[in-house]
Amino acid sequence: MKNKALKRFIYCLSLLLFLLVQSSFKIDEHPKKDTTVNNGFKLRTIIVDAGHGGHTGAFGSYSTEESVTLALALKLQKAIEKNVPSVKVVMTRTSTANVPLKTRSEIANNNKGDLFISIHCNSLSDRTSRVHGRTIRVPDRSGKGVLILVYGFHRDKEETAALRENLFEEKDGKGISEGFDPNDPTAMILLNAFKAKYRKNSIRFANIVNNEFTETDGRRSDGVKEQGVLVLCHSAMPAVLIETGFINNPAEEDYLNSEDGQNEIVASIVRAIVEYKKEIEQ
Ligand SMILES: [Zn+2]
Repeated sequence: MKNKALKRFIYCLSLLLFLLVQSSFKIDEHPKKDTTVNNGFKLRTIIVDAGHGGHTGAFGSYSTEESVTLALALKLQKAIEKNVPSVKVVMTRTSTANVPLKTRSEIANNNKGDLFISIHCNSLSDRTSRVHGRTIRVPDRSGKGVLILVYGFHRDKEETAALRENLFEEKDGKGISEGFDPNDPTAMILLNAFKAKYRKNSIRFANIVNNEFTETDGRRSDGVKEQGVLVLCHSAMPAVLIETGFINNPAEEDYLNSEDGQNEIVASIVRAIVEYKKEIEQ
């Protein structure tokens, strides 16, 4: 961009855009129209990510997190395709193999996902106590309920890199070096605007799905929290990680493995998707 006047014009436009996004933060209860994405925005592609695989993750007394998350993810895929047929579902894994986190976000970004849903099970670590001078470990099976995570700001750099690659490479098709100059304030302002937007929509979806779990299914919830989750920060799209229950709590393990429990969890996520889609496409 050599034309100075044009550059200044874009700079001012971006600043205006950025301020608009900032101000729209304050009216969270009744979110107004998008300011960074076209008004014609459609939720077209959802990435469903079954956590773990390859013998990683938490385990209960008879089941593993990797098998429960895969069962839930496959059911979720079918349910979305049935109930929201306009949305394409892309899976990050459909087998028991482990897929590296980097590959998961690459799958998400390459398929131009509009929403990333990562499915996990929670587990409490053992408690330790001293008995007769020896340290013993006691399993803690008291964990209960769901928890929804969105990315936290301490992972900011990674998310910015993922965003930069997606936004700028995609837009001019000439690669990052030509499309993005980190010293250009215009580019940084645009990036920040997108980041704010994705964070806002991640929290929006997380709250809807959390409400479904607590109000429709009567599940206990630790709420919506921000945390630096690697797989989420590499995704240049709104992203949530759903802890569907505590696999090392026997009652929750039964629920997570039961047909009824899995169907209930999946139905809640699908209702949340329908609601979220309606809200953001308005
Ligand atoms: Zn996990």
